[in-house]
Amino acid sequence: METTFACTCCGWLRSLSGRVTVGSDALCWSCAEEHTILCDRCGERVYRREAFRYRDRTLCAPCYEQVNNQ
Ligand SMILES: [Zn+2]
Ligand SMILES: [Zn+2]
Repeated sequence: METTFACTCCGWLRSLSGRVTVGSDALCWSCAEEHTILCDRCGERVYRREAFRYRDRTLCAPCYEQVNNQ
């Protein structure tokens, strides 16, 4: 059974137990900590560069659109 995966971000082989999925990507914990953040509204993990700030909250793109359309 395969117990490792290649991190999409750094390319290192990491243990599957430390895998963090972001959309269709699989990241290791250290990359996830550095490059991703949790949406304050839906809890989805998104890349920091794709996250939005809205009134001191961090939102993913779909949530940001929803709060802006309310
Ligand atoms: Zn990594
Ligand atoms: Zn969200």
